[in-house]
Amino acid sequence: MLNDGPMSDATAAPAKTRVPIVPFLELPERGEPHLVGQRCEACGAVYLGARVACGRCCARGRFREIPLSRRGELYVWSIVHQSMPGVPVPYVVGVVDLPEGVSVRCNLLDVAPEPSALRFGMPVEMTTGVSQQDRDGNDVVAFYFRPARG
Ligand SMILES: [Zn+2]
Repeated sequence: MLNDGPMSDATAAPAKTRVPIVPFLELPERGEPHLVGQRCEACGAVYLGARVACGRCCARGRFREIPLSRRGELYVWSIVHQSMPGVPVPYVVGVVDLPEGVSVRCNLLDVAPEPSALRFGMPVEMTTGVSQQDRDGNDVVAFYFRPARG
């Protein structure tokens, strides 16, 4: 309704929307956020992000979306000491291998930016957080990984 009557609550703040920072991050209303892969229906290879053809078997346009595990293993990491202005350093970036056969680049949280705190192959789990607001005031949600608990 464009013409709000006197009964409308004009002071209520508009509901904030959560927007994923990448298209392959799913933020369901219920259940936990997770990454979404594209699985080739011909050979089973899994990719992050939309694809035209499978890099393994060359099949075209035969992909099915699958939810990816929230847990994986830290394949490689690096401690960043210099970044863009305004970005606090040091922080840890890494590549996480997921059991579906996908590798994902990410920032690591809840771990000291010291080599002694990091280990190749360490179990990690995905988490999310609001990284910024977009121009419309929506929360932009990013994914991160952190050392797995439990
Ligand atoms: Zn394939």
